[in-house]
Amino acid sequence: MDNKDFLNFGQAALDFIVEYNDSLKDKNVLPSVHPGYLAKLLPTDVPTQAETWEKVLKDVKHLIVPGLTHWNSPNFHAYFSGSSSYPAMIGELICAGLSTIGFSWISSPASTELEDISMNWLGKLIGLPEMFLNGEGSSGGGVIEGSASEATLICLLAAKDRMVRRIKQLQPDMDVDVIKSKLVAYTSVDANPYVKKAGRLGSMNMKFLPIDKNGALSYLTLIKQMLIDIKAKLIPCYVVANLGTSTACGFDDLEAIGKICKNFHLWLHVDANYAGGTFVCPEYRYLMKGVEYADSFNCDPHKLLLTNYDCSALWVQNTDHLIDAFNVERVYLTHDNQKLTRDYRHWQVALGRKFRAVKLWFVMRLYGVQGLQQHIRRLIDLAEKFENALSTDDRFEIVTTFCLGFVSFTIWGNDAFTRELFQRLTDRKKIYVSSALHRERLMIRFVCTAHTTAEDIEFAWNEIKGQCDEIHASPCNVQEESD
Ligand SMILES: *Cc1c(COP(=O)(O)O)cnc(C)c1O
Repeated sequence: MDNKDFLNFGQAALDFIVEYNDSLKDKNVLPSVHPGYLAKLLPTDVPTQAETWEKVLKDVKHLIVPGLTHWNSPNFHAYFSGSSSYPAMIGELICAGLSTIGFSWISSPASTELEDISMNWLGKLIGLPEMFLNGEGSSGGGVIEGSASEATLICLLAAKDRMVRRIKQLQPDMDVDVIKSKLVAYTSVDANPYVKKAGRLGSMNMKFLPIDKNGALSYLTLIKQMLIDIKAKLIPCYVVANLGTSTACGFDDLEAIGKICKNFHLWLHVDANYAGGTFVCPEYRYLMKGVEYADSFNCDPHKLLLTNYDCSALWVQNTDHLIDAFNVERVYLTHDNQKLTRDYRHWQVALGRKFRAVKLWFVMRLYGVQGLQQHIRRLIDLAEKFENALSTDDRFEIVTTFCLGFVSFTIWGNDAFTRELFQRLTDRKKIYVSSALHRERLMIRFVCTAHTTAEDIEFAWNEIKGQCDEIHASPCNVQEESD
């Protein structure tokens, strides 16, 4: 493809992206395709002769778009919505255009340095204490991971390495494999499922502790379990504390948990993947009280901060712990400035890495602090509108404690009603919500996206209310729960 074709293809692709996003208001948020639909439409093999880009782009419009769940639809209220923006999309394009792979400083100095600077910017933007930032007299610093899942695994492995070193110092005769087999990690039952996966991947026994009625893990629950484990000759090693759980946006008792972790030398990892974005606004920062006890802190700009997936921000207080755990050297990877710079390959699972900082930097510059604060306040305001609507109707029970752009609710009474409502909403495809189990009850989770407006909230509320009316009009159709 020559430059001229590239420019034409590029222009057509940009036109397509704008048209696509504009068309979403009038489309169902969920597609109407069945599993295997695409294989019926595409050839089974690579074309022998090169095709034209016009034909490929046409297939995107006619074959791919009809099979998409539209994450940018104003009626997408499921999961934690991925946030995207035009600045971040262009950032992705430029990242691809530059095609650097910045595993070490010399492999692309600007890519390493912009990531370091952007992570300091973002850290200040959300009010993280200075010990997490890279600067004079600080051993902290940030890195962009592909996902929270990777960040949690990385920190679990670093925690393991640190604890093994510590125990070896205290009890030099103890076998390393024996030490590793005794390590235990803790989190709450409402933690994201990827925490379980990190435990499995890192071969560490992960214990899921019960939560209180606000969805929070209390320090008492943690210390009780730790004492039982210590008595059983196990070694507590790693804690994942949640600031905003995926199920009900619960906040663990961070400060008290942090003190325990300090006293017992456990690594404290804070999962603020969704809610961390709200800390752009100073009025929500009280929710991270105690963060200075954390060894690592993780927040996803790809959740609330308008940065296209993938962009998961991880800060640690002591970068040496990561490097000690993951430093694998090869002659061809070394360079003269190693002592003066960062080599991000030690901070992640893969060797190669994308220049993700470009999109994050674009977003921070093109929105500014004020623009991002406005965005967050608008989302929270919309969710409050939705919550207010729910609270006018006594058939609904609101579950979330903090309304940070996210509301979870149930229909009073049997779970079967909530399940029926969720099924109807999904089948009708007008709005897309998700469901979750929280304290053994089924709930519906509702979030807002950057594209949602007050009118869309009203639309969603009417859709939910209308379906609830129908369920209550013929309740005998609702299958009773067996329990
Ligand atoms: C979204 C989310 C995750 C998973 O994030 P990824 O970056 O997609 O791996 C983990 N924890 C919480 C609280 C989340 O909201």
